Amino acid sequence: MTDAVAEAPKAPINIPAAVMFSISTLAAVSLLPWYLWTHHTGAGPWLFFVFCMWATGVSITGGYHRLWSHRAYEAHWSLRLFYMLFGAMSLQNSILIWASVHRVHHRNVDDVESDPYSIKRGFWYAHMGWMLRDYPSAEPDFSNARDLQQDPLVVFQQRHYLGLALGMNFGFPLLVGALFGDAWGYLMLGGLLRLVVNHHLTFFINSLAHCWGRRPYTADNTARDNDFVALFTYGEGYHNYHHLFQWDYRNGVRWWQFDPTKWWIAAWSAVGVTRGLKRVPEFKIQRAMLQRQFDKAQEKLRACTHPGRFAELQKLLEHELEAFSITLNEWKRLQAERIEAARRQIAGQWEHSEALRRFRALEQSLRLQRQRVRLLRLQTA
Ligand SMILES: [Zn+2]
Ligand SMILES: [Zn+2]
Repeated sequence: MTDAVAEAPKAPINIPAAVMFSISTLAAVSLLPWYLWTHHTGAGPWLFFVFCMWATGVSITGGYHRLWSHRAYEAHWSLRLFYMLFGAMSLQNSILIWASVHRVHHRNVDDVESDPYSIKRGFWYAHMGWMLRDYPSAEPDFSNARDLQQDPLVVFQQRHYLGLALGMNFGFPLLVGALFGDAWGYLMLGGLLRLVVNHHLTFFINSLAHCWGRRPYTADNTARDNDFVALFTYGEGYHNYHHLFQWDYRNGVRWWQFDPTKWWIAAWSAVGVTRGLKRVPEFKIQRAMLQRQFDKAQEKLRACTHPGRFAELQKLLEHELEAFSITLNEWKRLQAERIEAARRQIAGQWEHSEALRRFRALEQSLRLQRQRVRLLRLQTA
């Protein structure tokens, strides 16, 4: 019997991507150290490096990802122009291809065959390997990105991607460098070093954020929340939340969670550059977290070997599940009331009525219940 997997031909090498990654990596580990050793580099090129790191990073996380892939908010053309230019500088393909492939990732997450950067094919594959060969799963199919083809800036970038990418990676640093009298220094740091560092930081979102961290919202996929990963991925380390609530402009949903992309989007909304910021209602977030606590508690309970203790804890858990079901029903009833108020165009009255207070009380009761179920789970240990 033949081994179909072993005999299947390997996907052909993606030559432009392989050449680009090879040259940039080799230059960053040879040419760059030599340059820094033999030339005096002042503060200017380093400041330019920091600026370019932020500009290209936020153009991927705030632009390519949250704006174009997920439509989590709307942005004025000036900000979209910024994202379009610095997104091309980040050399991660065009907006249209990136967003189309990313939407497939969300739809088929973890599927070995159809998730373009499935972690189930290993860390390296999810990090970079998927780009080095022409795998069928990463073949862009713009049928899932027709909305983006209505954006003239997306279409313009798609048509002129190569020119924009070369211009932003070589022309822009050389021009700024020439203005400040150090063209090569600016190219080495703002061009080369920034390109390689920014590549790996953003690639960690597909690799590290799918294998290292906790899962407070859903265990249906491999995506993780990790405060440490968030520190160097422009806030995209809260990937478990993101995979459950992908239309939320926030990834780190709590105010204290380090998500500079969220702060950037919110800050621009204060002056009208961004608007329509989408937020998942707090009740739905609490409901997801509580459901996770119940699942974990039930898992622990199944492993409990003490018969008396098992019966006692099971009773408590059943009581909590019943309370949960009552809260959900009350919430559904209030939602129906709210929709009816909107239909009758009295939403304003509803918002100021007793119902809103009841709404907040339900959110609070879920929070308290989550703490109780967590304690219950700890007692089961
Ligand atoms: Zn993901
Ligand atoms: Zn996403």
